Amino acid sequence: MSAPPRRASLELWGVRKEFGAFTAVESLDLTVPEGSFFALLGPSGCGKTTTLRMVAGLEQPTSGTISIGGRDVTGTAAFRRPVNTVFQSYALFPHMTVLDNVAFGLRRKRLPDVRARARAGLETVQLAHLADRRPSQLSGGQQQRVALARALVNSPSVLLLDEPLGALDLALRREMQLELKRIQADAGITFVHVTHDQEEAMTMADTVAVMNEGRVEQLGPPAELYELPSTAFVANFLGRSNLVTGTVVDAGDVFGVDVAGARLQVPASRGSTSVGAGAVVQLGVRPEKVRILQDGGEPTPGSNVLGPGKVTDVSFTGVSTQYQVDLGDLGVHEVFAQNASGIPDIRVGDAVRLAWDVDHTFGLPGDPPGGGQ
Ligand code: ATP
Repeated sequence: MSAPPRRASLELWGVRKEFGAFTAVESLDLTVPEGSFFALLGPSGCGKTTTLRMVAGLEQPTSGTISIGGRDVTGTAAFRRPVNTVFQSYALFPHMTVLDNVAFGLRRKRLPDVRARARAGLETVQLAHLADRRPSQLSGGQQQRVALARALVNSPSVLLLDEPLGALDLALRREMQLELKRIQADAGITFVHVTHDQEEAMTMADTVAVMNEGRVEQLGPPAELYELPSTAFVANFLGRSNLVTGTVVDAGDVFGVDVAGARLQVPASRGSTSVGAGAVVQLGVRPEKVRILQDGGEPTPGSNVLGPGKVTDVSFTGVSTQYQVDLGDLGVHEVFAQNASGIPDIRVGDAVRLAWDVDHTFGLPGDPPGGGQ
């Protein structure tokens, strides 16, 4: 791009949005550092788009403050904010060439060197060779890149992306995820990306905020959220988890927890709350961390063990084989085994035990909602 983009941080303080009696976003505090790739991840209806629209100035918060680059923009009109938004629908002008689509906003602002800037924008998204085509002569992914170039040429301080890859097929989506990551790293603009796709958020963002019912449940780098979720919602929305409920019988550096008569352990550093003996906690483990113990198989020292249970499903998915193991009152647990060194002979109906390293266990507070697993 000709002009280097201005970077800026984005801050939300106590931002709340009510629609009549319904609260779509509960008092939200968020800091998005300048130059970061930030993802707002959550299920449909959790308030992601409403949050993005408030940042864009398309929706007024009921209360709270929004600042960009340290400047309070809460009362600033949308077109005066240093932000641009890329939506799921590309909304390109069909009668204009690709280049004119990208140049459109620049022309309206009466900026100099419009064509050169638009061409530079197209180069950023690697589409300069298609500058003279019309949008209908492009693939979905190419159209999305034009929409991206159109936003980037305005050199926004913050770029808002509202499910921009939602309409693309899986292969193209994956390609565009990497492309967006590259563009963000090159341009250095703060990106705020809204998605309900956990894999997409983890692939692209350096920080993910997991939203549920208008609140942020947990925020952090993807690997941290995955390794140490702090709520059952995060444990199950970001990847999958096996969760069991138990009672603390031993509180120390390593907690001893009674789970239906079995003694499990969790390092105190991997629990999200500090609790004492007698407290009810949930313990969790990711399915790819669990090993299946067949007849006579012995766990390695330092393992948690549950079972026996019955294998109820074996699904070969190519890179891994996924097992469902019914542990009775403890529910159905999942095990994902990489197909690296042959596939063990485990079949539906087999009685097996499950084992995993104590260090891979995480602790969550209290009973799960609804009392189920
Ligand atoms: P999705 O992934 O489906 O787009 P989302 O997390 O982006 O979901 P929002 O669009 O922010 O969710 O909506 C949050 C809640 O606010 C939803 O329950 C929605 O029905 C409600 N809502 C959004 N806009 C309005 C409006 N203008 N009037 C009334 N309710 C609204």
